[in-house]
Amino acid sequence: MRLLEERIVQDGLVLGSGVLKVDTFLNHQVDPQLMEQMAIEWKKRLEGVPVTKIVTIESSGIAPALMLAKLYGVEMVFARKQKSITMDDSVYTADVYSFTKQVSRTITISKQFLSSDDHVVLVDDFLANGEAALGLCDVVEQAGASVSAIAIVIEKSFQPGREKLDDRNYRVESLARIDTLEMDHIEFIHE
Ligand code: 5GP
Repeated sequence: MRLLEERIVQDGLVLGSGVLKVDTFLNHQVDPQLMEQMAIEWKKRLEGVPVTKIVTIESSGIAPALMLAKLYGVEMVFARKQKSITMDDSVYTADVYSFTKQVSRTITISKQFLSSDDHVVLVDDFLANGEAALGLCDVVEQAGASVSAIAIVIEKSFQPGREKLDDRNYRVESLARIDTLEMDHIEFIHE
């Protein structure tokens, strides 16, 4: 998606060890116009795919996921990274190792919000090693629901996440696919 690629080149800061900082429009301050255009693009790409729910993980997935849910007219659910005291034991969980924080966390979704009739589009801000996406697939499948697609804002294609998801036959729609991430040079893959 050209608009997103341009924004990444304009605003993105490449930190060491393959990490991209995009705090001006996605991970801290959020650009609602861009989020809306991204949701429109995902929906266009996913034409004909059954969708009854959008599922993401807090916190940076929430903004794009909510835009997509609004377009589809369905509910959005975000997995919590810390179990809230308001949640009872009726939950699905999965352990996810965080690429940026370098710690393992248990993600949690209340059983109330997923059913075996659901066709879910998963949304996340980044795809790196695929841990977050696979953890989300796990909780959705524990509910007997199906994963219709995985919608990613920024895929770092030089890391193994995409290949892991392809190997498991998940449909992945990444709006920007980064092949090369260097301080002064970012290159994208175009299909
Ligand atoms: P994965 O689970 O695929 O290894 O990593 C995905 C998660 O790590 C995303 O939810 C995102 O929060 C974080 N992440 C991975 N790579 C980056 C990056 O380059 N920049 C930022 N800001 N977050 C990242």
